[in-house]
Amino acid sequence: MKKQNILDSLDLAMKICNQAGVDYADIRIVEMSDEVLKVRNGLLSEIVNSKNLGYGIRVIAGGAWGFASSANLHSQEITNTVRRAIQIANASAMKINKRVKLAAEPIWIDRWATPYIIDPFKVSYDEKLQLLYSTEEILRNNDPRVKSAWAYLSIAKEHQWFASSEGSRIEQEIVRSGAEIGVSVSDGNEIQRRTFPASSGQYLQGGYEVILGLKLKENAAKTRDEALSLLTAPPCPSGERELIILGSQLALQIHESIGHATELDRVLGLEANYAGRSFVDLEKKGRFQYGSRYLNIIADSTMPQGLATYGYDDDGVRPERYHVIKEGVFQTYLTNRELAHNIGETRSRGCNRAEGWQNIPIIRMPNLSLAAGDATLAELIADTKDGIMVDGIKCWSIDQYRYNFQFGMEIGWHIQNGKIVGPVKDPCYQGITPEFWGRLVGVADEEHWHLWGVPNCGKGQPGQRAEMSHGTAPSKFSKVSIGYKQA
Ligand SMILES: [Zn+2]
Repeated sequence: MKKQNILDSLDLAMKICNQAGVDYADIRIVEMSDEVLKVRNGLLSEIVNSKNLGYGIRVIAGGAWGFASSANLHSQEITNTVRRAIQIANASAMKINKRVKLAAEPIWIDRWATPYIIDPFKVSYDEKLQLLYSTEEILRNNDPRVKSAWAYLSIAKEHQWFASSEGSRIEQEIVRSGAEIGVSVSDGNEIQRRTFPASSGQYLQGGYEVILGLKLKENAAKTRDEALSLLTAPPCPSGERELIILGSQLALQIHESIGHATELDRVLGLEANYAGRSFVDLEKKGRFQYGSRYLNIIADSTMPQGLATYGYDDDGVRPERYHVIKEGVFQTYLTNRELAHNIGETRSRGCNRAEGWQNIPIIRMPNLSLAAGDATLAELIADTKDGIMVDGIKCWSIDQYRYNFQFGMEIGWHIQNGKIVGPVKDPCYQGITPEFWGRLVGVADEEHWHLWGVPNCGKGQPGQRAEMSHGTAPSKFSKVSIGYKQA
């Protein structure tokens, strides 16, 4: 689509909205490009190459929202789509108790783009498949115990144009790249699994250099050998023990027990799908002890390489860096322009995002990270008398208030008297969110801190997918209920 046509479409939609005298309107034109390549057991098992372009129009009329979308950019269809959004708003206005009021936001005219070195869509299939085939071969290693071996990569480009009736005009181009390798192994009695770098893949914003930087091939043998070692490893010992959580597992713990719990729409009960409410009620703002003093959680959609890094959210709000939890004390919620006033804030926290063009934006997590501490991983281990260190997400559940949870991991290591004794299989742990975070007694330093990408967070009805990152460093918890669970 030509750039001038896009700009004309933005102008046309806003002109009709202004003529109709709506309270507010915006349009987002989004072009999505996705590619996935997957090799499994020596064969190319999946190839996705998709592209779509469309637009969503939001209006506030009579104090109520209306939304309509279309993939047809002809001027007559844009006109029809705008009118449909206005009709929906007018119909909704007959049933509202409170008029929608948006928090103020400056008018922005800007362009923002992910910095990258190698355009992943310009790297040849030959080169990408060569990487996947050669890595998968090392994983499989012609070992009969390896029942399944896989390697995949996934790239996406999201080009968006936003215009609002307030006068903002924003263009953004977001590029995300990621990959995963893994094996399932069995000795005939049981099945074990190990993945690298993370069990739903590791993703960052950036180009093909992100995938090269994961060093998939270099880590294939270790990934396979760890899976095989689990076949003869003892079960994870049960009981209350010290727990060290590594990498992507800690990212998921933050995502589920802090991220979703602090989304303001869930706190207010406006969204309740996918374990959707929250125990973090409005009374807790600024005073609730969410965890120990080591717990510092920072929201930051301005940081380099985060999956939820952007110049502006889908409300046209420029994000900022802020503490959600500071030294264990809960500070504030994740908000959008519509809901910010519910917690006495005059500006949105920039968390409103939609999947593609055909969905209405809802509150989505920004990049949400645990600040690094000052220990080394070796120190955390040396200081552990009897504990388990865990890595690799396998399964989890959490209640609808984000309060009581359990997680199962791919691998654990038993630590006794400051030394790793060996791997243990099928570890799991459980806890109650504030008690669990209250037992955080040490966080590793910057050198051990990594940003982990969540490419598939589900929320809303109709369901929407969103991406975000969580920075973590290995962290130690005292007295956690640990057990053994075969998934
Ligand atoms: Zn999620």
